[in-house]
Amino acid sequence: MPIRYNPYAQRCPLWLRGNLHAHTTLSDGELSPEDTLEAFAQRGYDFAALTDHDLIAQPHEGSVPPILFLSGVEHSAQQHLLRIHVTSTLPLDLSYQSVIDLTVQAGGLVILNHPNWGESREHWRDSQLLHLERYHGIEIYNNVIEYLQGSPYALDRWDRLLSAGKQVWGYANEDTHWVKQIGSAWNAVHARERSQEAVLEALKTGRFYASTGVVIEEIVVEDGYFRVSTRDAREIRLISLHGRVVEQAHGARATFSLSKAEGYARVEAVGEGERFAWTQPVFLE
Ligand SMILES: [Zn+2]
Repeated sequence: MPIRYNPYAQRCPLWLRGNLHAHTTLSDGELSPEDTLEAFAQRGYDFAALTDHDLIAQPHEGSVPPILFLSGVEHSAQQHLLRIHVTSTLPLDLSYQSVIDLTVQAGGLVILNHPNWGESREHWRDSQLLHLERYHGIEIYNNVIEYLQGSPYALDRWDRLLSAGKQVWGYANEDTHWVKQIGSAWNAVHARERSQEAVLEALKTGRFYASTGVVIEEIVVEDGYFRVSTRDAREIRLISLHGRVVEQAHGARATFSLSKAEGYARVEAVGEGERFAWTQPVFLE
């Protein structure tokens, strides 16, 4: 099965993990910007974004702990999206496509947030997710929705987009408002070096996995096989077109043939309790 795009083609020396969605006391979060970053650093995170509602938090110089800080904002129009690595906000009455394009042109990262928030589970409608272009991905997990209506997961929405041929990545974010959420979700990038640029590059090109607790140690896609080694998964699944589970294996490691996959292939690792890790998809011819 020839591969059209493999986000893991480049081997890198580092795995760096971090959270991309957090609120501080500048909007509706519990901790100050500085204390939020400190809490992430204590948790062992390598990078963190602060994404308050419609304003860009700048922690006081000299008070940022040893963590790669990414500036950002949660653009909170009728639907919410993350704009990361940006220095200014945009008007809320701009079209979503303009917001995406202006952010991407300025070198930023765009993630559409918690698609399954709300009673009807369509904070973002499928038609919007399908129609909009050039955003980097969606939140396939958002922890704050555990406390609100709807589903924190959006794997269903992601598989629909991937099956329609869209190349979008899946991110797992805390959407931190309270201290108790810290550690509930992260993204681990495979980075060439410990720098803001390297983290952003990996987040944009899909060289990362999303997690709610399971740690992946190796992802290799080559010679028609998708191999994943984890520290703590009890089951691993290969998922393809329309979310179909093509194959599953017990234990912490698995090697799957891509011969029965169609369109795309991604791996989901299931841990103890409700813990998961999700690789990004490999796109097939
Ligand atoms: Zn938020």
